[in-house]
Amino acid sequence: MMIAAQFIHEPARSIPVHGDYEVVVLGGGPAGIAAATSAAAHGRKTILIERYGFLGGAGTAAGVTNFCGLFANVHGDIRQVVHGVADDLLARIDRLGGLNAPHVVFGKTKAQAYDTTAYKSAADDLLLSRGVDLFFHALGAGVVAEADGMLSALVLETKSGRRAIRGRVFIDCSGDGDLAAWAGAPFELGDGAGNLLYPTMMFRVNGVDPKAAGEAWKAIPELMREAEKRGTHFARQGVIVRPQRNPVEWRVNATQVASRNGRALDGTDAAELSYGEIEGRRQVQAFVSFLRTDVPGFAQSYIVDTPPQLGIRETRRIVGAYQLSGEDVLGCASFADTIGVNGWPLEKHVAGNVEWSWPPIPQSRGFNHLPYRMLLPQRLRNLLVAGRCASMTHEGHSAARVSGGCFVMGEAAGAAAHLALGHNTAVAEVDVAALQRLLEASGAYLGRDVT
Ligand SMILES: Cc1cc2nc3c(=O)[nH]c(=O)nc-3n(C[C@H](O)[C@H](O)[C@H](O)COP(=O)(O)OP(=O)(O)OC[C@H]3O[C@@H](n4cnc5c(N)ncnc54)[C@H](O)[C@@H]3O)c2cc1C
Repeated sequence: MMIAAQFIHEPARSIPVHGDYEVVVLGGGPAGIAAATSAAAHGRKTILIERYGFLGGAGTAAGVTNFCGLFANVHGDIRQVVHGVADDLLARIDRLGGLNAPHVVFGKTKAQAYDTTAYKSAADDLLLSRGVDLFFHALGAGVVAEADGMLSALVLETKSGRRAIRGRVFIDCSGDGDLAAWAGAPFELGDGAGNLLYPTMMFRVNGVDPKAAGEAWKAIPELMREAEKRGTHFARQGVIVRPQRNPVEWRVNATQVASRNGRALDGTDAAELSYGEIEGRRQVQAFVSFLRTDVPGFAQSYIVDTPPQLGIRETRRIVGAYQLSGEDVLGCASFADTIGVNGWPLEKHVAGNVEWSWPPIPQSRGFNHLPYRMLLPQRLRNLLVAGRCASMTHEGHSAARVSGGCFVMGEAAGAAAHLALGHNTAVAEVDVAALQRLLEASGAYLGRDVT
């Protein structure tokens, strides 16, 4: 039992410095992969720190196995709108035989499934090919801040003991905004009324008979309704059960994990996280029983994997120079400081369901710009924040949090760090036109050619 009101005193101690870097990236999900790749590709001495022993973030650690947000429905034409580092990574996953062909989602856009093992190896190769130092099994635990809004070091806990990494520019890609929060950047948690997007324990099944299963994802909602009439309880509707590249294996996005008080579990609360892992696995076992008994082709299926961690969709979001909103997504907003685009709709995991809201399709261009200001926390001169913890409202985040948007933000953060170092300026003073030229020269798409 935790006794929150009691404290012990930790004596001051000296921390060995593991290394000095120009760019220090915390977190190896899509944002961190793109940030570190981009900073190093521009010649910056870069380290990426990750608490697990592999890259991919929620995409591997939470078993997501599917890229959303790479495509948009541009006036009826479903096309890939996220390029740059993402192209390089996907090509490497494909070379390892780990990439599905894109599949259509709700008839409106496309997503693309992948194999997690291939993703991990492809990401290793990508980062090493650019000269990034990878530091695994290192949990970021604090920052050393100077008086003038500058950070000078990141403190880590490792198996070798506590270590410090000195840096000149820091990029928080932790998903949870850990580094930004330690540095004192203002942030929000949820919608202001304590509601976060609900987490999910993903899992994959093997041993599916693909012929008998057919397009089972279309039949499953009705099969669930029939099972409910017989007394089966499901944690949520709107489940996603789709084949992987080898159709004997399917991914299952069907659970929904609340905390004991019924609200979405808070992924920044250690006790709730512990509870959620166990509850998530309990729901996995219950759902696979339904698949086996009620869904054609699944009778012999078995759980091949539950992932290393519960899938947390939303925790801290910084309140930065601009917060991307739900209206921006639905209205396909344009920004002069665009760093790339988001073509994914609002996808809100609310109690018991998933709510989708799309921009007008095919009347609109189907994507919004992502402004550079989303990456800029208040007050801090050498910190950028990219990925799902960037500056967005609860609604805006429900769209731009997916992998496509996170690749865009990460790549821009890495390039911006390079420019800030080159001109010895604060990250908020980076010349945006120069940043945009750099991004386009690296193959990124900024979405300025379509209205
Ligand atoms: C269940 C679920 C299903 C989803 N489905 C899809 C989908 O189908 N398609 C899609 O595109 N997106 C999907 N998403 C969303 C998407 O996976 C995430 O929003 C995206 O991965 C966020 O990228 P990120 O780089 O910002 O953060 P993350 O992917 O969360 O990566 C953050 C990384 O930082 C590391 N880290 C965190 N804190 C520390 C620390 N203190 N020290 C060291 N390392 C740290 C973590 O281990 C992790 O590797 C889903 C998310 C969930 C939870």
